[in-house]
Amino acid sequence: MRSQYCGAINESHIDQEVTLCGWVHRRRDHGGVIFLDLRDRDGIAQIVVDPDTAEAFKLADSVRSEYVISVKGRVRARPEGATNPEMPSGMVEVLGKELKILSHSQTPPFPLDEYSEVGEDVRLRYRYMDLRRPEMLNKLRVRSRVTSYIRNFMDGEGFLDVETPILTRATPEGARDYLVPSRTHEGCFFALPQSPQLFKQLLMMSGFDRYYQIAKCFRDEDLRADRQPEFTQVDIEASFLDENDIMSITEKMVRNMFKDLLSVELPDFPRIAFSEAMRKYGSDKPDLRIPLELVDVDDLLKDVEFKVFSSPANDSRSRVAALRLPKGGELLSRKQIDDYTKFVGIYGAKGLAYIKVNDLSQGMEGLQSPILKFLPEEAVTRILDRVQAETGDLVFFGADKSTVVNESLGALRVKLGHDLELFESEWAPCWVVDFPMFEEDGEGGWTAIHHPFTAPACSVEELQSNPEAALSRAYDMVLNGTELGGGSIRIHDADMQASVLKILGIGEEEARDKFGFLLDALKFGCPPHGGLAFGLDRLVMLMTGAQSIREVIAFPKTQSAMCMLTQAPGEVDHKQLRELNIRLRKKETSGS
Ligand code: ASP
Repeated sequence: MRSQYCGAINESHIDQEVTLCGWVHRRRDHGGVIFLDLRDRDGIAQIVVDPDTAEAFKLADSVRSEYVISVKGRVRARPEGATNPEMPSGMVEVLGKELKILSHSQTPPFPLDEYSEVGEDVRLRYRYMDLRRPEMLNKLRVRSRVTSYIRNFMDGEGFLDVETPILTRATPEGARDYLVPSRTHEGCFFALPQSPQLFKQLLMMSGFDRYYQIAKCFRDEDLRADRQPEFTQVDIEASFLDENDIMSITEKMVRNMFKDLLSVELPDFPRIAFSEAMRKYGSDKPDLRIPLELVDVDDLLKDVEFKVFSSPANDSRSRVAALRLPKGGELLSRKQIDDYTKFVGIYGAKGLAYIKVNDLSQGMEGLQSPILKFLPEEAVTRILDRVQAETGDLVFFGADKSTVVNESLGALRVKLGHDLELFESEWAPCWVVDFPMFEEDGEGGWTAIHHPFTAPACSVEELQSNPEAALSRAYDMVLNGTELGGGSIRIHDADMQASVLKILGIGEEEARDKFGFLLDALKFGCPPHGGLAFGLDRLVMLMTGAQSIREVIAFPKTQSAMCMLTQAPGEVDHKQLRELNIRLRKKETSGS
């Protein structure tokens, strides 16, 4: 139907006849001559229709925004003064001779010919219109380049693309499962995979050696910003190699991809132990573009009378940390400090103590802070010394349970970095390693920090005698404070797997019921193996500079896990429910 895309015409086509198809982006009537901006996925071409071609002119006069038309005409240079060097087709125009209206459009729900901020609900409801916007199209174009790059890279490294089931049994990754009722097995349910974890391990046991898949994963999580109930992973697994091999293959992939697709040379990926990341950045996904660091000062505050500091300083599960903001005393107003105090409150901090260093040479006299009167001079001097405070600085403090301090000061560090534009580089990747195996589940038991199939870095005996101290062979790739992917070396020994499940409180019967197939497979010759999965949506979000993962997913769900476009999830009729042997409980009415 068409001879080329609208965005593809340029000076090399002058005097040639072309046929273009697309959407009417804008129509302008310039005193008897009609200009149409015609848009397709490649760009915009300017069409001119003059009254000499009466029929085409009449049609051009009748078209409106978003009509779909085809135009046959001749390419010519735009007159001087009418060129637009910003547009690839901006030096030429098409003198339209024949025009066909292929379909009409109602008035669009939001204008597409100029960038306008439209509520996200409206954009999602009319996603097919929203996706017509060049900026949306470009983000999905980058996504397509990324997946094709990854496929080529993985193929080149000898990985086989294998699909794994969507209707399956639960795969524990720490979220709730989406369940699908079975019609043929009354009372039974499939679970949608939270990841292909177990299948990729089985593929290693099958001898596939190197597997990858661009896989949909499903997790029914509580509302959290920037999560999607279904999302895409670049899932990778390989045999007979260790964590260094996996980290180097995947690092090479990301590095090459940034270079080839974005012309970005990523710096080195330092490896940071989990404990160090928490200590210095209060986070296991540190944003290393920001030069601020948390510094422990517990030891200096153990004996002070000020309980707010001394209690946590003397409690092994708590922490007192300082965060120095260079020149913060000059940069931040009292009102801003109050706002940051409210901000850390979101993370459970009961306040935000600070010391403003007006003049370091003046000792206590040169400092300003509501807490100074509670602290001995020696402690203050040593703290300032330790954080290397200088005149003009502001030193914030967090004193609470370690989790609260880490979360609140960690978030404050990032917020200050953004608000005050403290970034020292555009891209700062790293690996976080040496994660603990387990964390407390709050009910006296343990949960796996990665997942229950991750290998510990110790023996079965050591693991059993001190699960709290055990480190895992897991690793996360982090870029600019976002976790791009995570993985681990897996357990390939049935005894070790049984021990880990036991520590997690999964009894033998439950283990057999849930992952009997995996436990069996471990007994039939399992190679040492490990892997990693990247979150594709987040990766593309970072690569396109998008503000949310919804911007890089063609048809995303809202934050309350529904699809505005199709109105899914929806109710189903009784007949369907009956076939599935499902009876719904009556909806509880308020007050009952
Ligand atoms: N299955 C893991 C996840 O979804 C990734 C991995 O360990 O390879 O996070």
